[in-house]
Amino acid sequence: MPEKALVIELADSWRTSLAAYPSDLRLVVERLVEDEKHALAAYFYARMMQDKAGRTFLSHEVVHNRLSASMARWLHELFSIQESSDFRALVELQHHVGQVHARIDLPLHLVLMGARYLKLRISKLLETQTALGAAERAIALCYVHETIDIAMEFMSRAYSVSYDRKSRSEESYRVFAAVHNTAAERGRQRAALLDWENQIMFELASRADLSALPRANDSDFGLWFAHKGAYAFQGNRDIQIIQQTLDELDNEVLPDFFNDNANQLGTLRRLRTLVRLIQMNMDELFDQRNELESGRDALTHLLGRKYLPVILGKEVAYARNRGISFALLAIDLDYFKQVNDRFGHEGGDAVLRQMGELLNGFCRAGDYVFRLGGEEFMVLLVDVTRDSALRIATALQELIRREPFKVSGNEQIQLTASMGLTLYDGHPDYAQSLSRADRALYQAKELGRNRIEIL
Ligand code: GH3
Ligand code: MG
Ligand code: MG
Repeated sequence: MPEKALVIELADSWRTSLAAYPSDLRLVVERLVEDEKHALAAYFYARMMQDKAGRTFLSHEVVHNRLSASMARWLHELFSIQESSDFRALVELQHHVGQVHARIDLPLHLVLMGARYLKLRISKLLETQTALGAAERAIALCYVHETIDIAMEFMSRAYSVSYDRKSRSEESYRVFAAVHNTAAERGRQRAALLDWENQIMFELASRADLSALPRANDSDFGLWFAHKGAYAFQGNRDIQIIQQTLDELDNEVLPDFFNDNANQLGTLRRLRTLVRLIQMNMDELFDQRNELESGRDALTHLLGRKYLPVILGKEVAYARNRGISFALLAIDLDYFKQVNDRFGHEGGDAVLRQMGELLNGFCRAGDYVFRLGGEEFMVLLVDVTRDSALRIATALQELIRREPFKVSGNEQIQLTASMGLTLYDGHPDYAQSLSRADRALYQAKELGRNRIEIL
């Protein structure tokens, strides 16, 4: 949800807009929409299905069933609001809808198209209200348009924030996958930059042709920076500083060695200062990268929760395009607290590490394993059916049950896990699958643990 202060601000501005319309006219609109909300939802759905892009998002049966009901509810909420009502809830509802749209990658133009159809339809309905005079109808019309416009505006706020966050984690995932071992990369590039500095000093000492000093931009470091570093750290301010410093070295410092033989020491100092500046900024970049990398869980090195939306979004698109399914398996170790109680936090950590290794070893290369926190894991099984997913889950459960978990020295314990399994059902919003897996896990716990429930 957005900041509380923002919600209050938006709620107030909505209330003010609404208060500008006479309440009796608002009541006419409210009744009209109330009577027609299901017809409006049906009309909306039919119109959107005429659009090719609209069809790809709406054609699924699950969407059809849920959308009509939630569209009718949304219309009801929008037009039953009174000056004394809770506008904050209404603002939050728009925010929520915007987040869902962003999560399923719904193109903004489709949202706007849908709003246009609704406005058009309600306008038509208003024309049948013969009890209203022409002037009153015009005002009612304005009210309808402004209300839907406000809703769209507030939805778009959530949409752009979620979208931005999503593309940022997508970006970090991409880079994370590409520049995997940043510690080694950091060392290599640090050495490459120093190599270049040494080479300059060697050339100076050997009094070679100073007009032909190797340029920083052409050095190994410069090339790495231009082709990989700047790309991997894209959008970061330090990138600019490093580029400017490299240019300053090439365009000002190197010519100085040639032009001003007398003050070589001063120029050398400047060179050294600029190289240090680059190093400092590089350290900064790599430190920030480490923070991103910490999206991988430090204890088990499994993927952290932050990668769930990125990977689920990707898999949902993949499954929809190919007409195949994936499964989510939520796993929670049973009575794990007792492990900590008996063997200390260290013992508990050892178990979690071993559990991470077990899961990694068990899953196929295309599957994903997340540690969502504590002793709770999530496995995404790609390309499965209900039967094969259940077989896999059962095998995993058995494997955990037989695993000797080392807690300290030679001491080993047996553990069990409860699991919630769900098959992706084609709905574009992956959050639905996630919460089903959670609920299934909860049921498995409720029903006595060491079992698998399917929802
Ligand atoms: P249940 O069968 O209902 O899942 O019981 P439980 O004891 O496994 O679950 P509960 O959620 O009550 O307790 C989980 C415990 O996991 C509590 C917490 O101290 C411990 N825990 C969470 N994170 C870590 C961690 O990183 N390391 C260790 N050693 N323990 C952790
Ligand atoms: Mg547990
Ligand atoms: Mg737990």
